[in-house]
Amino acid sequence: NDESTVSITVVGASGDLAKKKIFPALFALYYEDCLPKHFTIFGYARSKMTDAELRNMVSKTLTCRIDKRCLTRLDFVTTILNILRENCNEKMEEFLKRCFYHSGQYDSEEHFMDLDKKLKQHEGSRVSDRLFYLSIPPNIFLDVVKCASKSASSANGWTRVIVEKPFGRDSDSSAALTRGLKQYLVEDQIFRIDHYLGKELVENLSVLRFSNLVFEPLWSRQYIRNVQLIFSEDFGTEGRGGYFDRYGIIRDIMQNHLLQILALFAMETPVSLEAEDIRNEKVKVLRSMKPLQLEDVVIGQYKSHTKGGTTYPGYTEDKTVPKDSITPTFAAAALFINNARWDGVPFLMKAGKALHTKGAEIRVQFRHVPGNLYKRSFGTDLDTATNELVIRVQPDEAIYLKINNKIPGLGMRLDRSNLNLHYAARYSKEIPDAYERLLLDAIEGERRLFIRSDELDAAWELFTPLLKELEEKRIAPELYPYGSRGPVGAHYLAAKYNVRWGDLTTEQKA
Ligand code: NAP
Repeated sequence: NDESTVSITVVGASGDLAKKKIFPALFALYYEDCLPKHFTIFGYARSKMTDAELRNMVSKTLTCRIDKRCLTRLDFVTTILNILRENCNEKMEEFLKRCFYHSGQYDSEEHFMDLDKKLKQHEGSRVSDRLFYLSIPPNIFLDVVKCASKSASSANGWTRVIVEKPFGRDSDSSAALTRGLKQYLVEDQIFRIDHYLGKELVENLSVLRFSNLVFEPLWSRQYIRNVQLIFSEDFGTEGRGGYFDRYGIIRDIMQNHLLQILALFAMETPVSLEAEDIRNEKVKVLRSMKPLQLEDVVIGQYKSHTKGGTTYPGYTEDKTVPKDSITPTFAAAALFINNARWDGVPFLMKAGKALHTKGAEIRVQFRHVPGNLYKRSFGTDLDTATNELVIRVQPDEAIYLKINNKIPGLGMRLDRSNLNLHYAARYSKEIPDAYERLLLDAIEGERRLFIRSDELDAAWELFTPLLKELEEKRIAPELYPYGSRGPVGAHYLAAKYNVRWGDLTTEQKA
């Protein structure tokens, strides 16, 4: 709208997340013409920086997205590439001219008042909408929200605040944070970000399920044997373990990212695609879940490992981690949803650092075919070779369905093959980063992909008793070598429920 302007303030602009994700995402939105016509971006942090220094810092992480379709259709690839690059460089210059910096303390209303004055200069007489992105450690969230809402919120438009995880470390601290935020903001102004919800394939989950006849009728205990939600990183904390050690992998990945995917996966059909309808259904799933039992959880921690002449350090060898830390860097858990659709179906989660592979995926293993004709004729293998739907969230996005198939030829031999939707082969356009989608949604007031406070409460309620028990009993994690598949305990846990973990690396990728 020509009459309004959006001011985006990145609080903690000197930090890692701002540099790596937020500014590049804002530029990508600008490049794609998705930002409103009138906008200004301000970086705010304590570090002393001029506008030029901020621009210089930001410029190093901006990249251009070039649509591959242009390249395949045209012979003059180099010329076109150069034109696109020039266009991109121009756009970068324009974008950077709209980025400014204000140095201030996080708990100073006066400094936020100074910011307010600068914002007003850019906003002029237009209706001013203001978005604050809190890219700062959680202990200063409330200071900033207080100062920003008192001294720098919009006088005539909306004011919204994006909050980054962690949202507390258990039910009590999370509730305290929510109460604190609500002293200055109403729920509709709070955009709790879980960047997994902005990932293309997570968003696609509902499309796949609700707009294809072949999936939704199978989406229940009747046909699904188990669901696996797997996250793995192939590196450790690498000198940045300070934050992680206070939280551990369960809080860092499971309680938020994997649980959010689970809720989206398992929810009932929402009344509509409206944010509140979807979030209502997600909360119901979370509130229907069986409390997590210690015997359904395995925790691990990576230890040093030497491979090919290189020694990879163990978690407690990281200088930022206490030597006697028992913080889990790996966890596997079996969760259950006590409702009619999912009764008895294990939802297995696994998340770990310093594993042999990296990626995030959802695996749906279907039941075996009752009275399978081919099993009778061709032996028992087919009993385990059930259909499996794999949604590879990252990297190299793909959706594939494993089917039993006849090997071509005169004989009758069967194998397992994939019906494969490989994104890089099917779609030429690069997939936007999750932060782009989420920032755009926050600007547009679309709340579907953000976490509502009751969802957050339900998520903590599920995990807090387990986390307390692990900590009070000081349960030692099972050690696993850096770069391995994680603790063997995870396999026993899966076996307890007749499940075998799927494994990306042993599967045909193409
Ligand atoms: P960061 O680099 O540690 O901190 C961001 C900025 O906050 C710093 O540049 C610093 O700016 C200020 N700051 C740091 N420690 C502070 C302290 N103790 N007191 C006051 N100010 C402090 O953090 P980040 O990696 O950018 O992440 C920002 C937020 O996003 C955190 O809440 C983090 O948990 C969350 N997050 C990060 C990632 C990621 O990939 N990095 C992913 C998901 C979520 P000044 O000194 O200039 O004021």
